[in-house]
Parts: sequence; C-alpha cells; structure tokens
Amino acid sequence: MKKMNRRTFNSLMGLGAASLLSPSMVMAQGKPKVVIIGGGAGGATVARYLAKDGAGAIDVTLIENSKTYTTCFFSNLYVGDVRNFDSITHSYDSLAAMDGLSVVHDMATGIDRDAKTVTVAGGAKIPYDRLVVSPGIDLIYDSVPGYSESAAEIAPHAWQGGPQTELLKAKLDALENGQNIVMVAPPNPYRCPPGPYERVSMMAHTLKTRGFTDSTITILDTKPKFSKQGLFTEGWEANYPGVVEWLPPEIHGGILNVDAAAGTVETDLDTFEGSLLNVIPAQRAGAIASTAGLTNDSGFCPIEAGSMRSTVDENVFVIGDASIAGAMPKSGFSANSQAKVAAMNIRGDLLDARVFPARYANTCWSLISPENGVKVGAQYEAGEDGKIVATSKFISQAGEEASVRSATYQESIGWYDSITSDMFGA
Ligand SMILES: Cc1cc2nc3c(=O)[nH]c(=O)nc-3n(C[C@H](O)[C@H](O)[C@H](O)COP(=O)(O)OP(=O)(O)OC[C@H]3O[C@@H](n4cnc5c(N)ncnc54)[C@H](O)[C@@H]3O)c2cc1C
Repeated sequence: MKKMNRRTFNSLMGLGAASLLSPSMVMAQGKPKVVIIGGGAGGATVARYLAKDGAGAIDVTLIENSKTYTTCFFSNLYVGDVRNFDSITHSYDSLAAMDGLSVVHDMATGIDRDAKTVTVAGGAKIPYDRLVVSPGIDLIYDSVPGYSESAAEIAPHAWQGGPQTELLKAKLDALENGQNIVMVAPPNPYRCPPGPYERVSMMAHTLKTRGFTDSTITILDTKPKFSKQGLFTEGWEANYPGVVEWLPPEIHGGILNVDAAAGTVETDLDTFEGSLLNVIPAQRAGAIASTAGLTNDSGFCPIEAGSMRSTVDENVFVIGDASIAGAMPKSGFSANSQAKVAAMNIRGDLLDARVFPARYANTCWSLISPENGVKVGAQYEAGEDGKIVATSKFISQAGEEASVRSATYQESIGWYDSITSDMFGA
C-alpha cells in the first residue's frame, strides 16, 4: 500500500504538484481532521497523543458512547475486593479540556469511507481526513448455546467494563457458603488471555476471606490450554486447595446448553449447577468495524503491521482489540502501544512529521492472591511476513519468592496508574 506523504496528501486535497503544501500552509487551508471511534485503551490514547504531539495542528474528535470509562484491567481486583469501583472508573474531562480535542459522547452508527464521514446516533456527520477505529469487542452471545444478551443479566459475562462488572460482583457478594460458581471460559481469540483465570483467582480469594470452605469454582473451558496455565495451577493449589477445578473440552465434551435462570450448564459429561454462572462467550470486533467493511472472515480487522493502518482503507487505522495484531494479545497495554504507532503515522500523513519503525510492547499482569502477582510479556515489531512478531519475551517463573511476586504486583499498580494517565491525561 502506498504510504501517504505530503505530495499524496496534496493530491487528496485536490491540489497539483505546483502547489505543494508545507504543514503551516496546511493549517492555513484548514486543519486536517482526525476522528476516533471509541474512547478506551486504544482510542483515548491516540486522541491524547494527537492533541499533545500535534500541538494544535490537527482537529481531533473522539467519539465515545459512554460518559465514563470503567477499565476491564484491574476489574478482577474489584471483584476480589482488592480495589473499589471508583478506582477503576475514569472521566473524559481532562481529555475534553485539551486544545484541539473535542469529545463527542454519542454512538458512531455509520462510516462513509468514500465521503470520509462518520455518522453518530444524534444525526451529525463528522468529516475526517484520517479515521481511527478502536471500538473494542462485541460478544457473540449465541456462541454459547442457550446464552443471550438477556441471559447475561442473570449470568454476567463481565467482559465489558461497567454495569456487567458490578453485576458479577453483586452476585459474588450474595453467595452463601456451599453455593458454587461455574465459569464458561471463551475460545481464542479474546481480550485478555489470562483474564478468566485471574478472575477465578480473585473469586477464590473472596470465598477464602469469607470462610466459605464448602464452595467451589468449576471452569468449563472451550480450549485445551490457557495463558500462564502452570502459574495459575500452582497458585490455586497453594492458595485455594480443592476449590478450583478446570475442565478442558476433552473432559467435559462440549457445552450443550446454559440455562441462566436455572443456574445450570449442561455438557456432554454432566450438568453443572452454580448459584453464580459467569459465561464469557466468543468475541469479534466492535460492530462499527464490520458495518464499515473493515473486518475479514475472522470478525476482526486486518492491519499493516508497521503502522496499524487498515489493509482495506489507507485513510483508516484500526487499533486495540478490534485489530488482528499478529503475535500481540488483545490487551489494554497492547492497545495503548498500538495507539502511539498509529498516532505517529497519522502525524506523518497529515503534518509530514518523521515516522520511525514501529515498536510495540505488552505485559499482562495477573493477581493470584494478595501481593502474589505474575506477568507475561514481550516486545514486538513488524515481521517480514507482514505480521506483528515478538522479538523478545518474558514470563514469571513457578516457585518464585514471595518478595518477587510482591514486586511484580507493585509493578502492576505502577502500570495501572501510568496507562490510565497516558489515556486520560489525569
Ligand atoms: C476481566 C478483564 C481483565 C483485563 N485485564 C487486563 C490487564 O490486566 N491488562 C491489560 O492490558 N488488559 C486487560 N484487559 C483487556 C483490556 O481491557 C482490553 O484489551 C482493552 O480495553 C482494549 O482496548 P480497546 O481500545 O480496543 O477497547 P476498549 O477499551 O473496550 O474501548 C472501546 C470503547 O469504544 C466504545 N465504543 C464502541 N463502539 C462504539 C461506537 N460505535 N461509538 C462510540 N463508542 C464506541 C466503548 O464504549 C468503549 O469505551 C482485561 C480485560 C478483561 C475483560
């Protein structure tokens, strides 16, 4: 795909080679416009970096449906009573106060890629020169037989931050000793590969603190193995012996039906009863991405590994969970890292700013029990095969000293504070 430079930008603007524009002349002609759909880990970061590094030369509009953003990251710690809800909920006020950045709280309902406009539910059409799509995921409810959006009001997924997270926590708090939890864990690819297992750890921690010695957690997994499996299994045996049982598909034989009202999950092996069902279905890119024709058969959006530019449309960048980012897992850390690469390339397109080779990073921390943190992570770049590839990796080791685990947990707290201030500027 052709890289956009000042000359191609001029031709897009309908100007000939004789009238090549410098960035300051571009501003004189009216500032270039960037619209961002989704104010989460990816979208909020790219909005802030474009406003900050664009130094007023770009008009940035962030379209986000919600007035506040509750992070999924650290939501398991809220479930485990380690954090409160306010500490994982953030406002857009500081972003909205930035020069050159407008925050529109509305739902983007359509993208006209020919006219280069985004339509919002309120009816306005917002024009762009470059568009960033970062809508996160949608849940494929019927990927789990018997599950639905209405069933999620009884058997929460809590895989999108906000009311679902609070519902899961309320259901956990209402449990009595002897009542059980059943989780249906999702197939790949999904956001936050270690997330379901950190959640199990935090729910087991809650049962333990309440002295619920007769309650258990059964994980009915839809995949044969999972992220940081050895570390979680070791942690569950050490901290919650006899509480957590993990059953892969070759043991339970497949999920046949979820009955949220009855609190049952039927499998080939048996029917499991839970007073709390946590059903996490399969996922795909947020709906606006497929509506705009940016997805492929996988339900996610192909991108150029060196820029996060859509392979479908050179004026569009897709970042975060909605993108197909090669070896990078779908995480807030990844989305934040991809946002900075996208912002750099957009400034290259629109302001002729210098563009460096893309470098990405990710770390996924998980809390197994208080002060007992583990992590897995890597550095990434664009590979020769056109995919994002890992260049170096690391993972916590089994049997680490408590002081190492505590340091890992403290590191995760520092990360949470820095990513949320990187996203929201507050
Ligand atoms: C339980 C759990 C734990 C996790 N823990 C971690 C962790 O420890 N570390 C980590 O790095 N990641 C973690 N994650 C993953 C992380 O939350 C996601 O990967 C990250 O939020 C993805 O960022 P995003 O920008 O793609 O999407 P999101 O952060 O989901 O943001 C998308 C935003 O777009 C908005 N939106 C969607 N469609 C539209 C539309 N049409 N119009 C307007 N607005 C729209 C939504 O309201 C939302 O605010 C966890 C996830 C879960 C579920």
